Amino acid sequence: MTGTETAQDELYERLAGYEGRSAATAGVGKDPVNLPMIRHWCEAMGDAHPAYDGPGAIAPPTMLQAWTMGGLSGHGDRSEAYDELFALLDGAGYTSVVATDCEQEYLRPLRPGDAITFDAVIESVSPRKTTKLGTGHFVTTRMDVLADGELAGTHRFRILKYAPAGRPPKPDRRSSEPAAPAAAAPRRPRPVVNRDNAGFWEGVAAHRLLIQRCGDCASLRLPWLPGCAECGSPEWDTVEASGAGTVYSYVVMHHPPFPAFDPPYAVGLIELAEGVRMVSNVVGVPYDKVRIGMPVRLEFLRVDDELELPVFRAGGEG
Ligand code: ZN
Repeated sequence: MTGTETAQDELYERLAGYEGRSAATAGVGKDPVNLPMIRHWCEAMGDAHPAYDGPGAIAPPTMLQAWTMGGLSGHGDRSEAYDELFALLDGAGYTSVVATDCEQEYLRPLRPGDAITFDAVIESVSPRKTTKLGTGHFVTTRMDVLADGELAGTHRFRILKYAPAGRPPKPDRRSSEPAAPAAAAPRRPRPVVNRDNAGFWEGVAAHRLLIQRCGDCASLRLPWLPGCAECGSPEWDTVEASGAGTVYSYVVMHHPPFPAFDPPYAVGLIELAEGVRMVSNVVGVPYDKVRIGMPVRLEFLRVDDELELPVFRAGGEG
């Protein structure tokens, strides 16, 4: 066994020592479960299910975390244990962080008037793993959400703390100063690929834009989701987009500037010939010449050695 392996084993042993420790101070929901927040959520999500409206309404189960959120003023800080765990990972060179997934379990419905309290623990720290992003450790935090003191659901949130592949560890971008002009151009942000949308990105890699189709009611959906918003069915297959579309709407981004983007630029909401819409770039036309209704045609833009993106070229035969 090499010295490096021994050091890695020792680090993992220390990391695993944080399992079961508190991740945040116990919290109290700022508002009890209430109909106005339920209504705003349903409007934002486009969810018109009758169970969430009128007398006897319950809260949409996926609102679980919303009741625990602290808003701008927050709830107080992460626990000392959580900060120590992050410092340990940073110190070992795992300075980047990406949220990988979240899982929720629902034990009983939340109803208007329920008073919410919650508690968060560091549930697990994985052994060292190598992913496409780089090598690091997954950290899973579990939040138990209680309604009137009774466990109503759990919210598990997983992140990967990692050292980027092929690059030496560097300070967290969030805390570093903007890159000096001489530095290499920052890379476009990577899409978050998870088990719910992996097929979409496999399609892109094969230069096919795949739309999900419900296996029960045949509704089309994009972006990809695990279930049908029309009928709730988890069954699906895909249809390949023809590539024809029109600009349904757009914005021109001036501010704030993001690394790897050069404002001003247009961001289009493209309506595909199949009827679904997606956010993408409109290429082949200056940002101030993009117009609603403009016909566009799909093409694939190679951004760098790892990333290809579906984009839409103006002037396609809509
Ligand atoms: Zn359906």
